[in-house]
Amino acid sequence: MNTHIYDAIVIGAGGMGSATAYQLAKSGADVLVLEQFQRGHTFGSSHGETRIIRFFYDKAFYTELMKTAYAEWRALESASGKSLLFITGSVGIGAKGNPYGRAARESLDVAGVESEWWDAAELAERFPQFRVTNDMDILWQKDTGFLRAAECVSTHLQLAEQHGATVREETAVTNIDWQADVPTVQTEDGQFHGKKVVVTAGAWAGTLLAELDLPLTVTKQQVCYYQPADIERFQPDRFPVFTESTPEGEFIYGIPAFGRNGLKIARHGRGQIISADTPERTPDADYIAHIDAYVQERMPELGKTTHTEVCLYTETPDEDFIIDAHPHCPNVLIAAGFSGHGFKFCALVGRIMSELVRKGETGFDIQPFRIDREHQISSGIPRLSS
Ligand SMILES: Cc1cc2nc3c(=O)[nH]c(=O)nc-3n(C[C@H](O)[C@H](O)[C@H](O)COP(=O)(O)OP(=O)(O)OC[C@H]3O[C@@H](n4cnc5c(N)ncnc54)[C@H](O)[C@@H]3O)c2cc1C
Repeated sequence: MNTHIYDAIVIGAGGMGSATAYQLAKSGADVLVLEQFQRGHTFGSSHGETRIIRFFYDKAFYTELMKTAYAEWRALESASGKSLLFITGSVGIGAKGNPYGRAARESLDVAGVESEWWDAAELAERFPQFRVTNDMDILWQKDTGFLRAAECVSTHLQLAEQHGATVREETAVTNIDWQADVPTVQTEDGQFHGKKVVVTAGAWAGTLLAELDLPLTVTKQQVCYYQPADIERFQPDRFPVFTESTPEGEFIYGIPAFGRNGLKIARHGRGQIISADTPERTPDADYIAHIDAYVQERMPELGKTTHTEVCLYTETPDEDFIIDAHPHCPNVLIAAGFSGHGFKFCALVGRIMSELVRKGETGFDIQPFRIDREHQISSGIPRLSS
């Protein structure tokens, strides 16, 4: 029988779990990470080459947290000796006076982060790859960029192991006994005990914490890649991250060519509701045609989609995260519901979870992420989040 008691057991080795394991192990904790698949798998939310990192949000508390999140990513680069965060700047495209652009600008102004309005002529001068019309506003923000997503996860895990954490792959947690004297985690390979248990289970969090009936919805998300003939014009040193809120209420985003698949373009929004265990991972032809049509109008030289990927969002009704203790057991801590915009926060969430495990509190403002908050129904307006 396994009688060892870990300081912390982290369930899930995705973006949030890997960062939490690193921060805990770095601080000297005895950490066990349990991951149901192999590390780097593609069934959850953190795979693929890139994720956008940016300051602008329509809620000021996110912009404020991003100040530390950027610093944590840079600290990870220093600790690992790897380049993980690339700054490209971003253009936010929308109809003149569009509410998304205004809200983004306001959040930046409040936080003291510089940004500029451009018109179509200025965009054409800086980035002639775009075709826009004179009735559009362009918001330029120089600090936006992208993270090497899969590399960030593997780096956090590697460093966690270097600091003594144990990572067990292909070990699915089937139950958390939080009523036991020491929280006990059940797996097909036996049970493990931890003074604290951290649940960073992504799209599976709702099932694992079924007793809490968390308001989490898992949706299928699809991304399209492009490899234009002159791909040099779309490299990160010549092309920015972009976002566009369309008059139809859609929110489209794109990341410059990086890695083997080229430029990534996708729609951020509520996708088809599915179960995290749905094996079907085929992109929809209609969706690809829709993104191709958008690209044809906005960046015609990109041509047509050459590759696609499917990924999962785990959404809360108000699209804000859940970061809190289990309401019935302070020794079980939860980080879930990252609603399609969490990756940029992973390094910071790792630090917050580590503080919650070790000290029972954190100096960061996690009030908006309380589990018992009133879950406001989303306005249906695509937030500037991805
Ligand atoms: C297409 C797409 C684009 C995105 N773009 C952006 C972006 O540009 N910028 C941004 O900031 N965010 C973005 N996001 C959101 C971001 O990627 C997610 O918020 C983040 O990756 C969530 O990380 P996670 O650790 O919660 O989930 P995951 O990375 O899925 O990790 C959860 C892990 O827990 C494991 N697990 C679950 N249950 C168990 C169990 N019972 N036992 C053991 N292990 C278990 C899973 O196998 C998985 O490895 C995007 C997401 C998608 C899908």
